[in-house]
Amino acid sequence: MDEKTKEALESLPTPCYVVSEGKIEENCRILHSLEKLGCRVLLAQKAFSCFALYPLIGKYLSGTTASGLYEARLGKEEMGKECHVYAPAYKEGDMRRLAGICDHIVFNSLLQYRKYSPVIAEANAAGGNVSIGLRINPEFSTQKSAIYDPCAPASRLGIIANALDSEFHGVLPSDIEGLHFHTLCEQDAPDLVATFGRVEKAFAPYLKQIKWLNMGGGHHITRRGYKLDLLRAFLAEVMDKYGFTVYLEPGEAVALDAGWLVSGVEDIVTNGMDILILDASAECHMPDVLEMPYRPPVVGGYEPSVKPHTYRLSSMTCLAGDVIGDYSFDSPVKVGDKIIFGDMAIYSMVKNNTFNGMPLPAIYLLKKDGTTELIRRFGYDDFKGRLS
Ligand SMILES: *Cc1c(COP(=O)(O)O)cnc(C)c1O
Repeated sequence: MDEKTKEALESLPTPCYVVSEGKIEENCRILHSLEKLGCRVLLAQKAFSCFALYPLIGKYLSGTTASGLYEARLGKEEMGKECHVYAPAYKEGDMRRLAGICDHIVFNSLLQYRKYSPVIAEANAAGGNVSIGLRINPEFSTQKSAIYDPCAPASRLGIIANALDSEFHGVLPSDIEGLHFHTLCEQDAPDLVATFGRVEKAFAPYLKQIKWLNMGGGHHITRRGYKLDLLRAFLAEVMDKYGFTVYLEPGEAVALDAGWLVSGVEDIVTNGMDILILDASAECHMPDVLEMPYRPPVVGGYEPSVKPHTYRLSSMTCLAGDVIGDYSFDSPVKVGDKIIFGDMAIYSMVKNNTFNGMPLPAIYLLKKDGTTELIRRFGYDDFKGRLS
């Protein structure tokens, strides 16, 4: 991080998230290069729902995808381009609303499809234009972490080939226009190619009948070193071979490395080592640090003992395990200093909470000219408003 950005971030009231407009645009430009191949790219709002940036993202991507009614409404209201939804199940009232706003609705089971296909037919007869898809489960794991593996044994996510075959015997009903698979998490193009190889084998007859194939998210396309050329060649080949439109719906890749969480050092205690008490919390403001788990990058922070001054970074909550990790620094940290966590745009704001009565961090934009702008501040009412 350059000095000017660091100063700008350190001057903000803490805790706060700061989203980089420039980095979002850079990521979107890379994703847009896939659109030029004829592929459509959607923002998976589950990872990043900072809608102040939807107009910018919408300049480059085809639209949004949602995990249910609320995200679908947000995408429709704030980006207004293609609106897709997939959920393991839909409530009846939600389906009626979704049929009015979505372009694609993807079902997770044959029971859900049968339940709602008449609702969609009715909406379409009344002037709607919803395209129906089914989520399939290729039963092909390419990752180790079971919590993020939709192909793990007994997964509820997607229809396995056997179930599809015994229902349809190789012929899809005419109102099913697409298939959807989502099996990756922070993965590179070879995993997608291998997964599609399995899809081609297990779901062969259906691939010839669909208008679109959605390859889900988990593609770490904007990560340095991602095999973008392989992805491009693969997509071009698949679209050429089958003639359907390919959709990708990355979440992480849109906002990868595009934000920070700035925190203030409130106290330093010593118990076998020096421990910083920050006004940001892993549990409340970066839950993936504990859930995934992972070690977030810290500006100017290194592995323990690499630099002369090592600290445990923890928080103001009373949860003993609310610890971000141990980091070393060049110079001693003092009360009042700022600690800046990196890669905090994704799976942070969408997951945060007010456990312990912790305030929600404000959200700032780092604009391309280097200045910062407050997008949203939260207060006591946001805490009290979700309780009763
Ligand atoms: C989580 C999810 C995504 C986005 O995944 P990323 O890892 O953030 O790219 C896309 N589609 C579906 C169905 C998902 O569950």
